[in-house]
Amino acid sequence: MSFLESVLEQYEIVADKIKLDDGIRERLRCPKRALIVSVPIEMDNGTVKVFKGYRVQHDIAMGPTKGGIRYHPNVNLEEVTALAMLMSLKCALMQLPYGGAKGGICCNPKEMSQKEIERLTRRFTTEIIWAIGPEEDIPAPDLNTNMQTMAWMMDTYSMQKGHTILGVVTGKPLVLGGSLGREDATGRGVFYMVEESAKVKGTKLKGLTVAIQGFGNVGSVAARLLFEKGCKVIAVSGSKGGIYNKGGINIKDLIQHIQENKEIADFHSVDTITNEELLALDCDVLIPAAIEGQINKHNVNDIKAKIIVEGANGPITPEADMVLYDRDVLLIPDILANSGGVVISYFEWVQDLQFYFWNEREIQQRLKEMMVNIFNSILSLSGEKKIDLRTASWMLGVSRISEAHKARGLYP
Ligand code: NAD
Repeated sequence: MSFLESVLEQYEIVADKIKLDDGIRERLRCPKRALIVSVPIEMDNGTVKVFKGYRVQHDIAMGPTKGGIRYHPNVNLEEVTALAMLMSLKCALMQLPYGGAKGGICCNPKEMSQKEIERLTRRFTTEIIWAIGPEEDIPAPDLNTNMQTMAWMMDTYSMQKGHTILGVVTGKPLVLGGSLGREDATGRGVFYMVEESAKVKGTKLKGLTVAIQGFGNVGSVAARLLFEKGCKVIAVSGSKGGIYNKGGINIKDLIQHIQENKEIADFHSVDTITNEELLALDCDVLIPAAIEGQINKHNVNDIKAKIIVEGANGPITPEADMVLYDRDVLLIPDILANSGGVVISYFEWVQDLQFYFWNEREIQQRLKEMMVNIFNSILSLSGEKKIDLRTASWMLGVSRISEAHKARGLYP
């Protein structure tokens, strides 16, 4: 089953459960708009290469669309469509005035120079320029994109419009209207969810053993915050594999090691492990924070963690989901667990529109409050209906979108 098929299957289950109106059900199954663009750029060696880029806007009932841009060799229309739908649910669940979108370019940024990536970003922005904007669709960073990518997007958009428009993207550098706390936002949200899960399981955070797949923006921040609170982060990994130390890894030293452009595998006092081995480790908390489909019917029976917090989007397939639910694993689904990114992106957009910036304490407090409140609502709903947390989150998300569609009616 493809990622899109599994997202749609979950959607149908939820639509049945909430008895979703047939017309709205049909409308939400397909994205509102899907754009495929050719992105030609000159490579450093003088040749011209054409990349395929995508931007999918799933739903606009509640406001402009919002979602990341990823650069990865696996990016395709189906993947971006599935991710855009998840963004709609995430925004609705978190009560943000947005619909979902997602975009990306099929490329391997690890084999490209910074100049080539800059040309790619600027040309891609130009190709999708009529579809994005602070009141239309607001991109943000995702896999292999970052603050610099967003700065180039904002600059390209602004140069074409003739004046500076801060609110067209979020996840920008502070000096360009970025928000305090945005870079750490998703990992911080994942951390709050581990904190809340530990309370549910009646255990202390200190001493919990944690394994984290993916040590990028999301995984490394979650690892650092958990390490600072006394958790034992026993394993982390990147796309080439991971490292393990039963007694815990010093995450601050590891971050420093990576900042010096060294490989994760070359870190001191650790054993190397594969990504498959990491997922199967005996640990209290597992955080998949890399890509989709990592825990599936083939490896779900090897999973030993009692708490799983989905830092990545779609890291667990529906078949694996059911097995974990039956085994009483506390699974915090992506649309809640990694919503910190879009919540602080929302704060950034609001600050940009008002040209008025908040302090970091205020931002973190508001984020925590929102995430913990929704976590508790979902927990109650799942207990009341005897359903897993993912189904409960989807039910809340789909119901809110449906309510907006009902109130607006069908044009014309
Ligand atoms: P990133 O590019 O900063 O880091 C990705 C990490 O995953 C890297 O360590 C990379 O080596 C690793 N990785 C890539 N392919 C892998 C594979 N096949 N096996 C194991 N590891 C692999 O990306 P990120 O921003 O941290 O995003 C990670 C996930 O979180 C994605 O699913 C993304 O959609 C999701 N997410 C990100 C944000 C955000 O604000 N950045 C927000 C919500 C969700």
